[in-house]
Amino acid sequence: MKRTTTDTDVAIIGGGLAGSTAAAMLGRAGISAMLIDPHLIYPPDLRCEKLDDEQVSILRKTGLADAILPTATFDGDTRDGKAWIARFGHLLDKCPGGQHGILYDDLVNAMRAAIPSDVPLAIAKVTGINAGNDCQEVSLSNGARVSARLIVLAHGLSVALKDQIGIERIITSPCHSITIAFDVKPRHAGSFEFSALTYYPERTADRTAYLTLFPIRTSMRANLMVYRNMDDPWLYEMRHDPERSLFALMPNLRRLTGDIEIVGPIKIRPADLYISEGHRRAGVVLVGDTFATSCPAAGTGTGKVFTDVERLCNVHIPNWLTSAGMGADKIAQFYDDPFKCSYDDASTSFAYQLRSLSIDESFSWSLKRNLRFVARGAIGTARRLGMVTLADQVASEAWAQRLRSLADRA
Ligand SMILES: Cc1cc2nc3c(=O)[nH]c(=O)nc-3n(C[C@H](O)[C@H](O)[C@H](O)COP(=O)(O)OP(=O)(O)OC[C@H]3O[C@@H](n4cnc5c(N)ncnc54)[C@H](O)[C@@H]3O)c2cc1C
Repeated sequence: MKRTTTDTDVAIIGGGLAGSTAAAMLGRAGISAMLIDPHLIYPPDLRCEKLDDEQVSILRKTGLADAILPTATFDGDTRDGKAWIARFGHLLDKCPGGQHGILYDDLVNAMRAAIPSDVPLAIAKVTGINAGNDCQEVSLSNGARVSARLIVLAHGLSVALKDQIGIERIITSPCHSITIAFDVKPRHAGSFEFSALTYYPERTADRTAYLTLFPIRTSMRANLMVYRNMDDPWLYEMRHDPERSLFALMPNLRRLTGDIEIVGPIKIRPADLYISEGHRRAGVVLVGDTFATSCPAAGTGTGKVFTDVERLCNVHIPNWLTSAGMGADKIAQFYDDPFKCSYDDASTSFAYQLRSLSIDESFSWSLKRNLRFVARGAIGTARRLGMVTLADQVASEAWAQRLRSLADRA
């Protein structure tokens, strides 16, 4: 096999959301970069399936929102343009749509299409890395080698390369939550009345965070977020008799959806929470899931990816490349970046808080749970009474404050 060596400033290992966004940003900034991933086209994969307003606002800072959003389906543009919030079969609020539905492979492939053509994509698996203060060496499964000033490790959940250079993965919450995804359609009507619906569980014993229905193209997609073990017989029932299992879990959901049909495959995937240790080292920087995972139910993973990559490619890499060497002190600037730290802390706190808010039966969590729905209902009532601006301000402020206060408390 003929061995070739390519020189670049930044070798990006992994072309998922984090790596592809980094390649697009660096390429557009005129920084020499190379993306390495085993797949020319990112394959179907159950991950994030929608971007909310807050994630879109971080995406905008990458300069890539205009390349991505046309591929997504904005719920504000479908049916009544409203996202319904409900529990016990009753509507708590109908707020303006703010979610962009997009399957994960479409999201990553849209990001890849935004990578300038002068950024090379090597279709191969990285089998080895050698990192140090000055020059980094990357070995590929096709026998080629890449020499770089910096390695961006964006290979998601894989562990082999991290192991190789002594970066440890510490699982802090195994099977923290499980995502169940499928398409639904009304059994007796052409379409649902709502653009999107978030339905909260009726009992803590059901170990559910919420069900969310949102449009992707002409389909209505469902994400059901639960806190169970993967050997729980309920998952078997959900896979084999989904309509019955869903309505047994949420008996009053039918008041809003009518009878439904679940179409196509049901995808079920658990998510562990983990962090990295030993990552403060020369020559290599970890982003996205490679650095740490988030809880899918909390819906902060994509925001975390965009925050990491935005800070890295807008601020740190351009700065690092202006001087020689890529020592651990330079790399530490990224891990200590206050925006990154604050988002990571908020993401972790929210993962645990949402779990407790959904299933913890202690007095204090029951109280918080009830207050949450009272507050939601109050916002909905204000909106119905025509105090629309006030209700929207309260709702959007609530989201911003949630991240801020969670970060403060962490
Ligand atoms: C079931 C599930 C549901 C989720 N739902 C949500 C949600 O609703 N909202 C939200 O915000 N977040 C959600 N997330 C989290 C979010 O999707 C992830 O945080 C995000 O996809 C991570 O992107 P990444 O680029 O770090 O990793 P990935 O997208 O996994 O990319 C890793 C890439 O590295 C490549 N790779 C691996 N090994 C090598 C190698 N040796 N050499 C070269 N390339 C390699 C892979 O082929 C892949 O392309 C969910 C996650 C899961 C698991």
